Amino acid sequence: MTASKKIDVFISKELIEKRVKELAEMINSEYQNQEIIIVCVLNGSFIFCADLVRHITVPLQIEMVSLSSYEGTESTGEVSFRLDVRQSLIGKNVILVEDIVDTGLTINYLLKHMKLKNLKSLKLCSLLLKRARLKIEVPVDYLGFDIEDKFVIGYGLDYDGDYRELPYIGVYGA
Ligand code: 5GP
Repeated sequence: MTASKKIDVFISKELIEKRVKELAEMINSEYQNQEIIIVCVLNGSFIFCADLVRHITVPLQIEMVSLSSYEGTESTGEVSFRLDVRQSLIGKNVILVEDIVDTGLTINYLLKHMKLKNLKSLKLCSLLLKRARLKIEVPVDYLGFDIEDKFVIGYGLDYDGDYRELPYIGVYGA
């Protein structure tokens, strides 16, 4: 663990809080009187997801999935499951909660996998999107911030395991 904490703020704690609340309000108004399953895509989404669900007022359950595709700052392009959901999702309203969509390969793999499960509905909520980096079209239904092509850390996002605890989003190596 050699990480220095001197990282400039890219998206402030306050701005994140405001946007997370807005995303939850969108979800609340779209799912009135319906139950949802929030699927938290580990590890990077754990803080975002924890904050988001505390502003969601419709009944929900939380599942965790974990996929592997990244080493250092580059996607390997090959995606596989480390952890899958533990309950049947047939007939359920599912919202995938992701930290960041970069090339889109990881979430595209998960979306395809979820579409095979006979869900009632499937939506994607991502805190961040690097639109310029997309290698594949990804429908982000609830988006926090569209950001430029920088490797970001903090608020759950890491660089080789470090920096996840930062309360804001910073740029690694800036
Ligand atoms: P994709 O398959 O869309 O290229 O990558 C998605 C995953 O890569 C994210 O869930 C995240 O774990 C990781 N990732 C992509 N860009 C960044 C970044 O800028 N910072 C960090 N910390 N992780 C990233």
